[in-house]
Amino acid sequence: MTGCILKSDIEKFKDKVNYILSIKALKLWPKILKKEKDFLCPDQRDLKFNEKFNIDYLKTAPKYENNFSTYIPIMTGCDNFCSYCVVPYTRGPEISRPAKDILNEAQNLIEKGYKEIWLLGQNVNSYGIQRETDAKLTRKINFAGLLKMINNISGNFWIRFTSPHPKDFSDELIETIAKCEKITPYLNLPIQSGDNGILKKMNRPYTASHYKKLVEKIKNSFKKHRKGLEKNIFLSTDIIVGFPGETKKQFENTAKIFKEIKFDMAYISQYSHRSGTLAFKLKDDVPHKEKKQREEVLTEILKKTALENGKKFKGKEIEILISKSRITNSELGILIGKSRHYKTVKIQLNAKHQNSSANLIGKLVKVKIIDTTPFGLKGELK
Ligand code: SF4
Repeated sequence: MTGCILKSDIEKFKDKVNYILSIKALKLWPKILKKEKDFLCPDQRDLKFNEKFNIDYLKTAPKYENNFSTYIPIMTGCDNFCSYCVVPYTRGPEISRPAKDILNEAQNLIEKGYKEIWLLGQNVNSYGIQRETDAKLTRKINFAGLLKMINNISGNFWIRFTSPHPKDFSDELIETIAKCEKITPYLNLPIQSGDNGILKKMNRPYTASHYKKLVEKIKNSFKKHRKGLEKNIFLSTDIIVGFPGETKKQFENTAKIFKEIKFDMAYISQYSHRSGTLAFKLKDDVPHKEKKQREEVLTEILKKTALENGKKFKGKEIEILISKSRITNSELGILIGKSRHYKTVKIQLNAKHQNSSANLIGKLVKVKIIDTTPFGLKGELK
């Protein structure tokens, strides 16, 4: 077992698993699992054992799942202490990876033909602001600066990132993401709640109106700096329903802003009580049935707004990064990929393209959009 593990989790799971491995000790896992002598410890479920090796997590050699899309970690840890989250306790304070290492990795991948680079971190937009692993190299480079440098690497590729915190979204960053043409017009901006009282209890230091203004600024900046369909940035968000004490009225505030912003995607979670977090001290008093119902309300709103927003693509020819193929009842099968707006696109193959379809995986191809569904688009190859 690995991931964001607290001491209390170890107690809970230790009889169910053979190993509990610290995420920070990722590169030691092969040695631990092979039970090499120096890596044996009396109890393989002792997280401290992994941690005594003083490993720089950001220097873990990456393994890539495919040859066209990948994640590049740019920072790890978090200083925000949202009351429902264990990350600050399990990953520790924010540490930024030296810009030089990030740029080298990005450059290498792009030279190898990668088409999509995700910059990854718990709080990407505070990159370089907090502690740095190499002060000299990263001191003057903030997230906007890093994005500009990656955007300047020559080649045909897309830049995406996740996740930013609304409180750290500067005007400089807004202008940068709109102006850098390799950054795709898609943003995941976690709101978590649309009620100021709940946001405060969550220790999220912004208000619903701050979030709305921020979204407006971002949308306007894309309208100003981009052309065609890219003038519309697509937004997704993360939301928790049924946080301790969330009243019906407070949930309605969330539903209201959810309708107003017209998200294209949302990752909606029912609040789950986690020991070790600050919120664990509060009473988990919203019944499961009510949480489920609140989730359904938001999902219904989302289906409508996402469908409406997706209609802009109908009849248009757009670029898709093909990621997989699938056999369907029609025998000819389909290709599946993502648009720059991060919409899933299903492409029904015709006899002409069937034999060459496998060669298209990992490629950027032009696709004509023929239909829209709430969470995706349907297209055909030119
Ligand atoms: Fe940090 Fe995100 Fe967890 Fe908040 S939710 S503490 S920002 S990792």
